[in-house]
Amino acid sequence: MASASAPRPDRTADAAFAARAADLDARDPLAAYPARFIGHDDPEIVAYLDGNSLGRPPKAAARRMADLVEQQWGRRLIRGWDEGWFDLPLTIGDRLARTVLGAAPGQATIGDSTTVLLFKLISGGLDLRPGRTEIVLDRENFPTDRYLLESIAAQRGLTLRWLEPDPALGVTTADLDSVIGEQTALVVLSHVAYRSGFLVDAPAAARAAHESGALLLLDLCHSAGSVELALDDWGVDLAVGCTYKYLNGGPGSPAFAYVAASHQERFAQPIWGWMGAADSFAMGQGYEPSPGIRRVISGTPAITGMVAIEDTLDMLDEVGMGAVRAKSVALTSFAQEAAAEVLAPFGVVLSSPSDPAMRGGHITLDHPDFRAVVARLWERGVIPDFRNPTGIRVGLSPLSTTFAEAWAGIEAIAEELSA
Ligand SMILES: *Cc1c(COP(=O)(O)O)cnc(C)c1O
Repeated sequence: MASASAPRPDRTADAAFAARAADLDARDPLAAYPARFIGHDDPEIVAYLDGNSLGRPPKAAARRMADLVEQQWGRRLIRGWDEGWFDLPLTIGDRLARTVLGAAPGQATIGDSTTVLLFKLISGGLDLRPGRTEIVLDRENFPTDRYLLESIAAQRGLTLRWLEPDPALGVTTADLDSVIGEQTALVVLSHVAYRSGFLVDAPAAARAAHESGALLLLDLCHSAGSVELALDDWGVDLAVGCTYKYLNGGPGSPAFAYVAASHQERFAQPIWGWMGAADSFAMGQGYEPSPGIRRVISGTPAITGMVAIEDTLDMLDEVGMGAVRAKSVALTSFAQEAAAEVLAPFGVVLSSPSDPAMRGGHITLDHPDFRAVVARLWERGVIPDFRNPTGIRVGLSPLSTTFAEAWAGIEAIAEELSA
């Protein structure tokens, strides 16, 4: 293993990577978009490589949020609920479905945190398959997904069937075929793995689940806004995802839920509230769920939290998800190549699929010194994520990240490793 005090072996590649980054930026069809985010020209932020954890704020979002406070909230007051707020979770949900999810209207809503929506959709999904005793999940999934499934399985007396995928890859169709059976009620997977970036073959996973009569729930936190989705065509039953990552909704912006139309009539979630009832303002006795996707809602939706999502949807509408995915592939491929050339000599390894078709919008690099390196990177304005135990996650948000930033990040890691 290379020691942290090794000199930079050879810097002749650096100028070539810097020139290639400049050239890729000059030819980037999305080149106009980074400047549409606040902080893009802040000299203290040398490289923001964590837009997959908290997206940058769109400039338009600042105007939209000011308008919400000063005009809608300030002047329309309680009338705002009749003038759009009551249906806003469904209105934004339909826009998200069309632009990002590959889903027809009436199947998506904006709601609670991802964690809470996961609880609601897992519970509702299990109730669609009564009598079945098993849930399929994997050790590499995000902690909240694993913890919730542990809690729900304990409450209901169900068995968790754990997959143990290669941490640098993810759950394959063969893995799924080895555990899904006639007792499987639900398969819960992250579409893009939060650490490795592995991209699950979603249509194959849906087929594998359905062949045994089970349902597929996909966590889309790291795919919404970075990879193309076709939930309806793939036959995904249920899905949830974050809006503060690639959708740039802001810290704590509420998550989204998708329930396929074919399940909605029988779908029930356990947090019965007045805003998901058939007639919210009848205030009657006894809960009766609203028809359609509204039944996923429980209480008063977080209007102040969800409006900023629309500005990213505006940009995604302009460019289309195909162009976003193409830039994402170009960014991760460039970062991978630069890492192979200038970081591998220090013993840095790629802990992500090497084929861009098999990963989402980030790559993870591992080296024993990375915990300390990340602390020093943050001090110099290079901001990736540290991921236990030794990972740097390089998140490359296609609308807001430049190739120059990607190179600046890799170069800074090399400098810190040789410091
Ligand atoms: C970011 C992320 C979450 C976050 O859940 P919250 O309830 O918003 O904190 C959940 N699942 C995955 C896969 C994530 O990447």
